[in-house]
This record gives sequence, C-alpha cells and structure tokens, in this order.
Amino acid sequence: MISPAIATAEIRRLSATTNYHLRKPEALQELVDTLAQYAPSAPKAHAVIDQWLAENRMCATPADLRDLLRGEAENEPVQRMSSGCAACEGTGFVIQYYLCTRTEAGLLRQRLAGWQEAADVCHSGAYHGRPLSQSQSVGEFAARCACTAVSREPQ
Ligand SMILES: [Zn+2]
Repeated sequence: MISPAIATAEIRRLSATTNYHLRKPEALQELVDTLAQYAPSAPKAHAVIDQWLAENRMCATPADLRDLLRGEAENEPVQRMSSGCAACEGTGFVIQYYLCTRTEAGLLRQRLAGWQEAADVCHSGAYHGRPLSQSQSVGEFAARCACTAVSREPQ
C-alpha cells in the first residue's frame, strides 16, 4: 500500500504516453487505486512507472500495473507504512497541489484541498466552475512532512 497522493503523482507520469489524455477520469482513478493498493512502497511504484514508460508508448491498464507489481510483490515483503504520522503515512514527505497561474509578475499558486480536488480540476478543466485559462495548470510540489523535523530519513 502506498498513499493515494503518491499513487496519483506516479500515474500522472503516464501522461507522457500517447493516449493518457483520452482516458476517462474514472479509468485514471482505477489506475491510481490499483497502484496504491498493489505497490509495496513508493520507490517500487516509481520503478514500475519508469519501466512502463521505457517500454511502452500507450497508457497502462490496471491489469498491466498489477502484472508488473505482482513480480515486485513476490520479491519483497509488503512494507507497512509507519502508523506514526497520518499526514505522510511514514514516507517523510507530502505532495501538495496548487492551481498555478503564470502572470507577468511570476507564478501565482493557489493551494488545492488535496489530490482529489487536483484530479477534479485536471479532468474538468475548470476551477470553482470557471474554465482554466491557457496560463493555468495544476502543479504538484513535494514538501517535507512536518514529522521529518525530528530527523527521520525516508527509507
Ligand atoms: Zn509525516
């Protein structure tokens, strides 16, 4: 199990494939759910998406991800995330989502509530009912979780 935020970020890397943008939101959500459920750790999820992107031009399906992750799961015991920190589930970092607007003064960032809102904005192309302009996009930024201030290295 990995967090939905990390799974979402990894699945969004599949947007480099040719037909990712033709996928329906619910189909992309299935990919996120599959990755979140079957990936034993965040680095493994990253490696699996790396592997897919290196070998394929088309977007993966949930069955593809499961096949890739099944091999990983057999090699490694499932890593349980630390229950110590609810914010980052023991990974040491959190992903924050922003609506980014390019302006002459620079990049304006509006914090989104979380990955679900970010996904909604991406898929609907609108924020609070207003269509995004050419200069707007959703950005993800990794940030150290507050719990790492107690000197904890991830992995
Ligand atoms: Zn934390």
